[in-house]
Amino acid sequence: MLIPYPLPHRVTVLGAGVVGVATAWALASRGVAVTIVDAAAAPGCGASFANGAQLSYVYTDALASPALLRHAPAVMAGLDPAIRLAPRLDPDSIRWLLRLLRNMTPGRFRANTLAALQLGLESRVALHDLMARHPLDFGHAAPGKLHVHAGADSFRAAQAMVAAKRAAGAEQAVLSAAEARALVPALAARRDPVVGAILSPQEEVGDPQRFCVALLAVLAGDYGVQVRLNTAAAYIDDDAGIVTAAGERIAADALVVCAGMASARLLRRWGLGSALLPMKGYSLTMPAGPEALAFSITDVARKIVICPLGGRIRVAGGAELGVSDASIAPAALSRLQSAAVSALPGVADFAAAGAGWAGLRPMTANSQPIIRRVAPRIHANIGHGMLGWTFAMGTAHRLVQNMTEVGA
Ligand SMILES: Cc1cc2nc3c(=O)[nH]c(=O)nc-3n(C[C@H](O)[C@H](O)[C@H](O)COP(=O)(O)OP(=O)(O)OC[C@H]3O[C@@H](n4cnc5c(N)ncnc54)[C@H](O)[C@@H]3O)c2cc1C
Repeated sequence: MLIPYPLPHRVTVLGAGVVGVATAWALASRGVAVTIVDAAAAPGCGASFANGAQLSYVYTDALASPALLRHAPAVMAGLDPAIRLAPRLDPDSIRWLLRLLRNMTPGRFRANTLAALQLGLESRVALHDLMARHPLDFGHAAPGKLHVHAGADSFRAAQAMVAAKRAAGAEQAVLSAAEARALVPALAARRDPVVGAILSPQEEVGDPQRFCVALLAVLAGDYGVQVRLNTAAAYIDDDAGIVTAAGERIAADALVVCAGMASARLLRRWGLGSALLPMKGYSLTMPAGPEALAFSITDVARKIVICPLGGRIRVAGGAELGVSDASIAPAALSRLQSAAVSALPGVADFAAAGAGWAGLRPMTANSQPIIRRVAPRIHANIGHGMLGWTFAMGTAHRLVQNMTEVGA
């Protein structure tokens, strides 16, 4: 049985990425006095900085899948440039990889994907509620999305999930290659054939870093949220205190950890040391090209997204599992650029791409974020993986719900 429990008066939120600012909003808008703490000089500078920008509410397919299991020998042999597994032999990584393996059955893939779909749909409602109260400027748009398939097997597997997702509340349509080309004429110029596409009209886009900056300004200005940037947490104590790298202790009635990949280290004492594995990815942002792009595109075979973002085009991809260094490898960026050029030539001025960006997705083995109380006054909102921008608002609301319930 769950009994109601009042929200604490003062809460520290550790991390000002999309998950941290969404969590600060969910708490502050309910009257909680929030302090948000981040090591960086500005909000949204971690994995949230220049991600794929997709608010992918219904394309929530889990990483661990029967398809990935079939593909595992090629990944282990380093034959797939789009997904790579870095050898890591430490016990935490091995435990994580074994959990990933256990989640690759058809039943678990389906259950994890549909659970994430529910979270995606909740997140959409929560973001729309926020935007109705505070019209934030972060390049939000609702172009819908096309998953473009070049292989018959992947298209068949995707169609099987469409029925299950529709039954769970998603809007999706199966398109022939000709129907896909009618919606996205730029597809006609690509080098390989299209066998079909899945259209998800509810999908949206927005710039996550601009969202962090805009929401934090509202939180500080209208809700009295205290913002502590340039403040790195070195240690968390049992009483919800953060001890900073400079030796200061920041006290509160409760602490919510939303520190992306760093959360596993900070929460190791509470058993979360092996909860997350990084999956590095890349993005490029450039001016739009001569061919208009009205939809977001996921190229399934190349494992990249290409999306219109306020007059620019953002391309993201790359999945380097177990890589924990977020430095930019020029070869990986040029692979991403070539993949985008061959998938949709003409939609962007690819030659004018900026410097590029790399980030670490904080992955859980079942692709479900961890939203729970880890100690009486310490909570985790972590492990948002490939879809943290999408899930940030929904997980923030679930976290607040959890904080008000205690098992009896
Ligand atoms: C290439 C790429 C493309 C992606 N595309 C999409 C997409 O299209 N759609 C989508 O939904 N998701 C996407 N994602 C995933 C998404 O970006 C992440 O899941 C999300 O940003 C995680 O947010 P977060 O707030 O948990 O972590 P972060 O954004 O990493 O925030 C954590 C914050 O904690 C701070 N911090 C860390 N340690 C400390 C410490 N010790 N003390 C104080 N502060 C600390 C950091 O400075 C940082 O600001 C993508 C990710 C990548 C890498």
